[in-house]
Amino acid sequence: PQRVLVDVNKVIDDTLSLHSYHLRVDNIKVQRQFEPELPTTVADPYQLQQVFLNLIGNAHQAMAEKGGGGFLTVKTERVDDEIRINIGDTGPGIPQHLVGRIFDPFFTTKPVGKGTGLGLSICYNILHDHGGNIWVDSVANEGTIFHLALPVVQGDN
Ligand code: ADP
Ligand code: MG
Repeated sequence: PQRVLVDVNKVIDDTLSLHSYHLRVDNIKVQRQFEPELPTTVADPYQLQQVFLNLIGNAHQAMAEKGGGGFLTVKTERVDDEIRINIGDTGPGIPQHLVGRIFDPFFTTKPVGKGTGLGLSICYNILHDHGGNIWVDSVANEGTIFHLALPVVQGDN
């Protein structure tokens, strides 16, 4: 995997563009709150895109399952030496007793053919390979926020 300086805002924007038609069909509004002066990170941009595709796909599926409509909120900011990314949805949330299992390989609550249960375990591995982290906050019936952290490049800004 090729590691280069990456503008995270741009990778997220490109990923949202890929999904924009399908999100619109399900009446899901996208809210971008990007920090304009976000520092760069060193990453494989294709792996990061894979992460955002998985998380946006999960958020979309969760809101569609709730009947469609809702808000997908994507926020980026710098916090100390980290780039933080929040991906929030107004879907059904994750039941408290399942939260500890969602990053396990093959854990899925979706019917056969709709989910492999691999998406979040791949996200977890990619974030940790990059010296970052991923965790979740979810409230039943209100929604879910995935939090991502990536290191700021040493000496950048
Ligand atoms: P899959 O999407 O194939 O089921 P994932 O690893 O991507 O596998 O997700 C695992 C499980 O985590 C999902 O089946 C679902 O139960 C839960 N989940 C993930 N993202 C969300 C979300 N945004 N809202 C509600 N549940 C979610
Ligand atoms: Mg998934």
